Amino acid sequence: MKREKTRIPIRLKLFLPVTMIIIIVISLLTVWFINTSINRFNEHIKNTLVLEVNTITKMFERESMLKLEKVQTNLKVANLQFYKQPLFISSDTLHRIIENQESKIRHKAVLNKWYLNDILLNESTAFVDSLEKIIGGTITVFQKIDSGFVRITTSIRRPDGNRASCTFIPKHSPVALSILAGETYYGRAEVIDEWYTTAYEPITIDGEVKGMLYVGDKEKDMAELKRVLKTLKIGKSGYVFVFDKNGKMLIHPYLEGEDWADRELFKEIKESGNGIIEYVYKNTHKTVAYNYFDKFELYVGASINDKAESRQFTTGAVIGATIVGLLSILFLLFFIYRFTSEKLYRYFSALQESRKKLADTEIALRHSEKLAGMGQIAAGVAHELNNPLGVITMYSNILLEELSVDDPKRKDLELIVEQADRCKNIVGGLLNFARKNKIHPENTDIIELIKASIKSVVIPGNIKVTTNFNIEHKHLMIDRGQMLQVITNLIKNASEAISEKGQISIDISQKDENVLISIEDNGNGIKDEHMDKLFTPFFTTKDIGKGTGLGLSLVYGIIKMHNGKISATSNADPKAGPTGTEFKIILPLNHNKTTES
Ligand code: ADP
Ligand code: MG
Repeated sequence: MKREKTRIPIRLKLFLPVTMIIIIVISLLTVWFINTSINRFNEHIKNTLVLEVNTITKMFERESMLKLEKVQTNLKVANLQFYKQPLFISSDTLHRIIENQESKIRHKAVLNKWYLNDILLNESTAFVDSLEKIIGGTITVFQKIDSGFVRITTSIRRPDGNRASCTFIPKHSPVALSILAGETYYGRAEVIDEWYTTAYEPITIDGEVKGMLYVGDKEKDMAELKRVLKTLKIGKSGYVFVFDKNGKMLIHPYLEGEDWADRELFKEIKESGNGIIEYVYKNTHKTVAYNYFDKFELYVGASINDKAESRQFTTGAVIGATIVGLLSILFLLFFIYRFTSEKLYRYFSALQESRKKLADTEIALRHSEKLAGMGQIAAGVAHELNNPLGVITMYSNILLEELSVDDPKRKDLELIVEQADRCKNIVGGLLNFARKNKIHPENTDIIELIKASIKSVVIPGNIKVTTNFNIEHKHLMIDRGQMLQVITNLIKNASEAISEKGQISIDISQKDENVLISIEDNGNGIKDEHMDKLFTPFFTTKDIGKGTGLGLSLVYGIIKMHNGKISATSNADPKAGPTGTEFKIILPLNHNKTTES
């Protein structure tokens, strides 16, 4: 029972800090793991986003290349068709109001009449229209004038259905400059909301640039492009968008046509050209990767909603990591509890036990010091009293012998002799007590010794003495005389504690390397408050003349000198159960050495 009591707190004491440390460490690890996982995931999403934008840009790039090739072919076809027929530049003139296509400023101009195969190009669209049918792209013939190159016939129609003739490209524009230098010009142009890949080639007569031929092909079919880009799904929430160079949203799932020129996002995109940014749009955290595609002058972007992307992953990571963390904690705790704490526990309980032993020894030491001190005083007093007492006894006995049998003084003298004897007894006991600081062990039959003790005590008839000897080695190395005193004293005390009918049981048994002697009675018992004074010299509860209080201290001293232990348990309260006392002596079996103290 006692063992169980101390077992739990020690276990807990050991286990709690270890548990706390494990929980803290694993929790930190779990949090760290969740964090890194989420960061990695976000990183991964960003990479995907960048990759996506790059892919779209590549798509554009390829489209642009294809367009360029097509325009080159178109130009060849147009060239063939144009020069297949005779061109005649008449000195007849036409007066026209022409419009600068950049500044929109108009002025009067005088144009020469151009005849292709005898058809006045300035007033016929037959050539450009038939050519458009062949090449599937737009075509324009320009005539060189002082201010630049003016369209004299074109297949391009304005939204109102009219042709765009009589508009001119000013002579300082890149196109005009190339052509004047005799070079073919490739470029792009926005014509009525559509982008065209364009090619211009000089019309040279007698080494002089007289005009130019233009072919254009729709860079991309916006509707088709939108359809393709809108089917692109990026992650769970992502989509693609496209700005033109002026910040107009060309493609977007729901913001198409919006002007973003003044928005921070567009400004940033425009400034860096390509990269990745995070921004908040209507309380939603977004990450946007973007890239500028110079050939189309477009900004391609891909955007995702951070939370929507990582929510599922985060929940998964948190739940997963928490479960793993908890399992690890349980496993580790189980492991530690099973293996480590068992060892630690044993170590600590051994420590506790030895501490208790130390404390017991200290108490015993103090006790024996006290006894030794008392013994010295007692020896001194007894010695001094012994001689005068001897004189009193001797002379009172002589006097008694001299008196006749019926002498009236006889009674008084007898009382003196009796009391002097009592005093001698006390003094004898004291001397005995004081002298006992040495034992002389001899091979002694403990059973025989117990039997002799029982015989030497006068036990009233109302008390029954039972013995139970359960011992293998009955021969012990003990001081026979002193041990006899021990047993006798204990039996005497027991019989004195029994007032009416009673029983004294004497048991001898063996446990490990010890002999256990138990002397138990069912007498009145010892009150709790007397328990710690039992072995103190002169402690007695008996009437004057009956007890000296030296018996148990003598017993204690002798047992100690035999390297033994003595303890008492008792109940003096009839309400708490049957009363009685048990004295237990433990003697080491292999007590071979003579002990002196
Ligand atoms: P004494 O017997 O002379 O009183 P002891 O030292 O032998 O001195 O005993 C001290 C006291 O211990 C006794 O007075 C008694 O109160 C108590 N005592 C000892 N043995 C017993 C016992 N078996 N039952 C009850 N009380 C006891
Ligand atoms: Mg006694």
